[in-house]
Amino acid sequence: MSKEFRPDTICVQAGWKPKKGEPRVLPIYQSTTFKYDTTEEMGRLFALEEDGYFYSRLQNPTNDAVAEKICELEGGVAAMLTSSGQAANFYTIANLCQAGDHIVCSAKVYGGTFNLYAATIHKMGMECTFVDPDAPAEEIDKAFRPNTKAVVGETIANPALTILDIEKFAKLAHAHGVPLIVDNTFATPINCRPFEHGADIVTHSTSKYMDGHAMALGGCIVDSGNFDWNAHAEKFPGLTTPDETYHGVVYTERFGKKAFITKATAQLMRDLGSIPSPMNSFLLNVGLETLPLRVEKHCSNAKKVAEFLKNHEKVEFVNCGMLEGDRYYEVAQKYMPNGTCGVLSFGLKGTKEDAVRFMDSLKLCAIVTHVADARTCVLHPASHTHRQMNEEQLREAGVTPGMIRLSVGIENPQDIIDDLAQALANV
Ligand SMILES: *Cc1c(COP(=O)(O)O)cnc(C)c1O
Repeated sequence: MSKEFRPDTICVQAGWKPKKGEPRVLPIYQSTTFKYDTTEEMGRLFALEEDGYFYSRLQNPTNDAVAEKICELEGGVAAMLTSSGQAANFYTIANLCQAGDHIVCSAKVYGGTFNLYAATIHKMGMECTFVDPDAPAEEIDKAFRPNTKAVVGETIANPALTILDIEKFAKLAHAHGVPLIVDNTFATPINCRPFEHGADIVTHSTSKYMDGHAMALGGCIVDSGNFDWNAHAEKFPGLTTPDETYHGVVYTERFGKKAFITKATAQLMRDLGSIPSPMNSFLLNVGLETLPLRVEKHCSNAKKVAEFLKNHEKVEFVNCGMLEGDRYYEVAQKYMPNGTCGVLSFGLKGTKEDAVRFMDSLKLCAIVTHVADARTCVLHPASHTHRQMNEEQLREAGVTPGMIRLSVGIENPQDIIDDLAQALANV
């Protein structure tokens, strides 16, 4: 589809393009395999000489149509779906790095991403240095090493809600000849398109707003096509030297701007196999059709709820980038002027027990680990995600005993506020 269309049009129209007499709605190609007429036809697919489907672990038409839609939304040149956001973030690093390599990552990232980069890739011989995303550029610059291969951050960090200064990070990454990877899960391309600010690769957990209904786990990797791998060929031999497992193909030579995604499909999907089921991709596509409507409503609801909380006598603080006076208000205005996301956090005055009483008094807002779907949900980090930490560790992680994470849904905002008000009255 033409790049001239705007995001809300892309959400309903891009991806699946039926020809004469074909289904209007994206079909679920629930098939592991695909048929050919001659030995030679299928042979060309195995040699990467021709584009086509042969086994769903590598590619599937339902998955590809949805990847194409997300690719257009982000303004990229190629994209692939994965079975989860974790797989998307792992593949992105594994496609660039090998044992002995190093990455730089914002310390304010999703807990799963933190474990992946702090522990799991470490066991594979790779290293990660975590940096304070709000530190001055000169400070962050000290984390780079000769073997650094990528820089990673989250547009809006889950759950810290810090907002990444994408241009600052892009400049640092490019000065060291490496790409900036941005996890754009919370902002979604409706509110922020990181490629426009210098990011090179975007990842998503589509399990959140993109799916939007808490129905299917999924992930996505999108490449802007902007990073010049050949200009830094010695850092990225996997992309710029022959792949002996495909008869010596050189990805940058054969696939140009699609080199990164082609390599991730041909090597990582082939060998590791975190492909989404076509059924889940179909569900994701249904979610994507209404993404712009839901994101707008999530943001307007969250702003109303944040204002209510900010003015409540039992509330100590509110973190929401859409509130004037918030620590990230200015940077949010720059990168996502139409809104941030529906997730906010706030602190109750009082003890951990007060927070528990508040949580257990809620009737509409449900206690759920998930965030970023249509239904409002809450979580108490000190009792749940950060339960193993002692008081001092909690403080270091920026979690107070009375802190609540609230994912504002798309219900009527007054009903959400009424529920919060009655629960606050119980504290
Ligand atoms: C949830 C989340 C992930 C992990 O995604 P899954 O789909 O749960 O595997 C990664 N990054 C961010 C920012 C997330 O919120």
